[in-house]
Amino acid sequence: MKHVPLRMCVACRESRPKRELVRIVGVSPERVEVDRTGKKNGRGSYLCPAQECWHLAEKKRSLNHALEMSITADNWKSLWQYAQGLPEHKVLKRAEREAIQAASTEGRESNWHEETSSKAQAAQPLKNPSFGGL
Ligand SMILES: [Zn+2]
Repeated sequence: MKHVPLRMCVACRESRPKRELVRIVGVSPERVEVDRTGKKNGRGSYLCPAQECWHLAEKKRSLNHALEMSITADNWKSLWQYAQGLPEHKVLKRAEREAIQAASTEGRESNWHEETSSKAQAAQPLKNPSFGGL
């Protein structure tokens, strides 16, 4: 049997084959970047290719914890430029959605919902008052 290296998404904590995940690397003490080649030097963490996981990682600061650094709003903007093109759609667990909501109400507003709401609604027909009421 062929050995498939597994990595864990720092947001949803699901283990998946490394090549299915997106690697984020701390390229300097203040800057993280998407590692498209998987070969960049530096401390790396992985996220699913789904915006929900990136959103969760931003709100819960999962990436900050994993990389042991603080990611600025500006840095997140550049990560989101990449994240706009992510192919997967993930349905988050209730606890994960609530964590996002809790972080959203206490922290700064994110425009993630406006940018992706039409897509999210199309792919997620289930009504969820706790998530939709943001
Ligand atoms: Zn994930």
